[in-house]
Amino acid sequence: MDLMPLEAKLGAKAVVADSSGMDRYVRDLMDTQSSSPLAVLRPASTEDVATAVQWCRQQGLAIVPQGGLTGLCSAAVPMNGEAAVILSLDRMKTIRDIDPLDNTMTVDAGVVLADVRAAAENADRYFPLSHGAQGSSLIGGNLSTNCGGNNAIRYGVARDQVLGLEAVLPDGTIWNGLRRLRKNTAGYDVKQLLIGAEGTLGVITGAVLKLRPYPHNRVTALVAVQSPEAALSLLRDLETHVGETISAFELIPEVAVSFALTMDNARYPLDAMHDWNLLIEAETPARAFELETALEAGLASAMENGLVEDAVIARSAAQRDAFWFLREAVATYFVEDTSCLKSDTAVPVSRVPQFIANTVAALADNLPGVRTAPFGHLGDGNIHVNVVRPADMDAAEFIPHREALSRVIEVEALKLGGTISAEHGIGRLKRDHFLGIVDPVERNLMNRLKAAIDRDKIMNPGVIL
Ligand SMILES: Cc1cc2nc3c(=O)[nH]c(=O)nc-3n(C[C@H](O)[C@H](O)[C@H](O)COP(=O)(O)OP(=O)(O)OC[C@H]3O[C@@H](n4cnc5c(N)ncnc54)[C@H](O)[C@@H]3O)c2cc1C
Repeated sequence: MDLMPLEAKLGAKAVVADSSGMDRYVRDLMDTQSSSPLAVLRPASTEDVATAVQWCRQQGLAIVPQGGLTGLCSAAVPMNGEAAVILSLDRMKTIRDIDPLDNTMTVDAGVVLADVRAAAENADRYFPLSHGAQGSSLIGGNLSTNCGGNNAIRYGVARDQVLGLEAVLPDGTIWNGLRRLRKNTAGYDVKQLLIGAEGTLGVITGAVLKLRPYPHNRVTALVAVQSPEAALSLLRDLETHVGETISAFELIPEVAVSFALTMDNARYPLDAMHDWNLLIEAETPARAFELETALEAGLASAMENGLVEDAVIARSAAQRDAFWFLREAVATYFVEDTSCLKSDTAVPVSRVPQFIANTVAALADNLPGVRTAPFGHLGDGNIHVNVVRPADMDAAEFIPHREALSRVIEVEALKLGGTISAEHGIGRLKRDHFLGIVDPVERNLMNRLKAAIDRDKIMNPGVIL
């Protein structure tokens, strides 16, 4: 393939075709076995993305858009040997504008999530999307996966943080939808179609993000409870004390704590280990509200009622960081143990306790000795049931079991009115199962949308559909 004409248009930095240069773009955190792309394209502007997409279309090449490669569904690298290029957004890192009156930030798609958050904070504003890979995932990837993260209970998921979008469509045209409107009912909401599409409908190149006042008033607690039922009752109880300020309500079972404690610098702050733990955070920009007092009162009354076994409130930023470090060490442990089965189910919040009990029992029946850690975003009903191999089984022996164990978890979620993917997406990993369970009317609609927008089927083929 002659890449010289494209290089002449985009510049030498934008076209990488040697295997050592492409190396860091072909492997994601899931260790997905990528097939070799023909090239990695790294355009520096929206116009250059459009030029690259037009060129790929003329050449009949598939395009795999790529952000920070932290996605957990094998969707950001080509597979199956198709003639494909990777289109990385990693050179598009400009924060184009912050408007404190509109409360908006306009960004390129390649800005790292942590940098979006930091820029907002520097302007005394808040961008609430937050998760364990925020130091390396890019905002375009976050929007394309419609990621959720730790604060969705209060602020919603990625799609709730967007007012406007800019994208290059599969035919190479640029769609400029960078509106700052809080209200807009003029026609279909096109941006919401591209958000969560995992790169199958176009390349997101920019976005207008919604900012909020910075929540200077914040309290964080590590709380031990007897059971997931008690955790759920506690959530509803605490809301009567602190209102709608609860911004994180993360479930961490003992087994997950024990995995996290194998990571450097992780510490468990309570005196004795408990079966079920919660990281609870409440925050508000309203400085006059006695948030800490209100949360303390809520926890004290829950302790009297027997809902809470023990609790500690972070009294310093360092303590808060340590609590969050423990929470994120759980996620990091499961990513680093590449043999571990990761899942991303959600059920209605009220069904979480039943879901956990049923799933843990069904997994033990399927493979005795598995170490099951149901953890995560209890406040959203989004429990990651991650499964570590039995202590006496090696990784190679365990890996063939993962498929069946995944089905066990997903079947239990579906029985309770849940979903097989709450925040990670479908990608290539879950495609076949998704297609097996999706409502036929919905599937047909999705196929027709895809065919209408991506007529040449060049955008991330094999992902979702
Ligand atoms: C330790 C850890 C913790 C995590 N915690 C959470 C969590 O709490 N909640 C959560 O939701 N996720 C979590 N994730 C998953 C992951 O971080 C998110 O899915 C993230 O949104 C992916 O962003 P990325 O930039 O890495 O995208 P990539 O992995 O590079 O790509 C993901 C998908 O988006 C597409 N894509 C990327 N950029 C674009 C673009 N500009 N235009 C069109 N398509 C594009 C790709 O083709 C692919 O389909 C975690 C991951 C790790 C490793």
